[in-house]
Amino acid sequence: MKILVTGGAGFIGSAVVRLAVARGHRVVNLDALTYAACLSNVASVADSPLYAFEQADIRDRAALDRVFGTHQPDIVMHLAAESHVDRSIDGPADFIETNITGTFNMLEAARTYWIAHGRPEGFRFHHISTDEVFGSLPADPAMLFTETTPYDPRSPYSASKASSDHLVRAWGETYGLPVVLSNCSNNYGPYHFPEKLIPVVILNALAGEALPIYGDGSNIRDWLYVEDHADALLLVAQQGQTGRSYNIGGENERTNLQLVQTICAILDRLHPRETGNYGDLITFVTDRPGHDARYAIDPSRIRSELGWSPSVTVEEGLERTVRWYLENEDWWRPLLARAGVGQRLGTTEKATS
Ligand code: NAD
Repeated sequence: MKILVTGGAGFIGSAVVRLAVARGHRVVNLDALTYAACLSNVASVADSPLYAFEQADIRDRAALDRVFGTHQPDIVMHLAAESHVDRSIDGPADFIETNITGTFNMLEAARTYWIAHGRPEGFRFHHISTDEVFGSLPADPAMLFTETTPYDPRSPYSASKASSDHLVRAWGETYGLPVVLSNCSNNYGPYHFPEKLIPVVILNALAGEALPIYGDGSNIRDWLYVEDHADALLLVAQQGQTGRSYNIGGENERTNLQLVQTICAILDRLHPRETGNYGDLITFVTDRPGHDARYAIDPSRIRSELGWSPSVTVEEGLERTVRWYLENEDWWRPLLARAGVGQRLGTTEKATS
């Protein structure tokens, strides 16, 4: 089986690429190599005869047609996106162009290819999305996002992802393109770009710098180890029912403050400071505008229909992650020099169109 993975030089896409190659699938990694990409994320498979890389931009329809024609994939797993909420507040235009127009181009390139090849039975277009499309939940633990929760996106990022989800469903209904969707909670793990909360906390702690927590730290997220997400995605791509969506989550709800305190406790054990504890570095900063209060996924459908469950708890996954950052300074150190990394973004003061 040949899988075309878009965004395979990013955080989650690279986990999908590594796992798919390890399972013996042929993989074509299509990525524009934006600021968020690292080809070193897939260095472990780069020399495999199962792996090919295509530098292409999903905003470029002609480039997509060429990649489809050259590689003739059986399955498309579409992860390429602008993914950082704070950047979407400062500059939403890239999110509209890549996440909405880029997904439209992917759907049209896939549809053209699928028709030209006689609408092959097993062809699949798997669109990878986020739980942020569902908006914000109240604190009541009984309230969870299900596949039928109405969409209520509240940031430029989540609105652009919601738009792309709607396009994918429309191409399934209108043109019969065999689509499947998944909406996942917050991921963490190795190769996480150092502008997202968990790597920022680990790397700031190691540098003895402040650990910034937005607002009062009470916002709740449902954390999933990235390799468990990659496993779920391959399952959905191959066995998910056409036209259906699957919510993927770790059932690991934590407030941001609890999460940061857990990381600090792991670092205190694995890499103690000379004086004091890492928790002493925690600093509360001005909240993100429109910061959603709580996300929590009900993963019953993927558990019961596809037999998936996560392999690690958040404590186990965080310990693996902290160890990985301690052992892989060669990976993360150069990324700290990339544009915007280490700066406070998304305050609306610098917003451009
Ligand atoms: P990421 O930012 O780490 O990686 C995105 C990748 O897409 C990068 O390699 C980048 O170069 C590529 N890309 C961006 N614009 C492109 C374009 N125009 N053409 C081609 N390639 C382009 O993102 P991630 O965290 O790995 O997220 C991957 C997908 O999963 C996204 O669609 C995101 O919405 C979704 N998702 C992420 C999370 C999370 O917690 N990170 C949770 C649920 C869903």
